[in-house]
Amino acid sequence: MLLRNQLYAGIVDVPEYGVRDKRGDFEPLISEDLFYRVQAILSGRVPSTAPGKRAHPDFSLRGFVRCESCGRGLTGSWSKGRNEYYAYYHCRPGCRAVNVTKAKLEGLFADELALLQPTPGYMRLLKESVLQIWKARKAAVRDEVANAERAAKAIQDKLDRLDEAFLFERSIDIETYDRHAEKLREELTLVRIRTGLQLLASD
Ligand SMILES: [Zn+2]
Repeated sequence: MLLRNQLYAGIVDVPEYGVRDKRGDFEPLISEDLFYRVQAILSGRVPSTAPGKRAHPDFSLRGFVRCESCGRGLTGSWSKGRNEYYAYYHCRPGCRAVNVTKAKLEGLFADELALLQPTPGYMRLLKESVLQIWKARKAAVRDEVANAERAAKAIQDKLDRLDEAFLFERSIDIETYDRHAEKLREELTLVRIRTGLQLLASD
């Protein structure tokens, strides 16, 4: 049975922190394919398979576990013993490679599920990724705030020079002063709003 046909490389997925499908460098567990199938089962989503392959109440792993010999999904059925019926998973007609009791296969599957529990390596990687992104975001905000402060200072300097030109040097008239002063104050307000928003967003 192909429960471990491919190495599952481990994926970190934390959308809130911008981490999407980040491959981790840690202990391989199971096939990625199985991982997603298991996630689908656990979340109660109906897998997008043909109607005949959908989960059967008696054989929930039907179609989820493939035959090692022919690669097709196993199916399940009840077979009559001397006194009672027994549940089996087996391959499709034409292939006799797999015939296993329901209890045994589902037990193996439960063991695989236990392996999906986050390992210490996984948690360490997750924590590192989240911290790294958080630090990078903080640094980016710090840079942007510093830029905005420089821009605000430059505008303020222009306003001071404008005041000087009007009040002390009398090199410009009141209309020119008003026009420039209004524009510069608008710019200053915009820069301050942007800085405030960035600081809010970084909290
Ligand atoms: Zn087969």
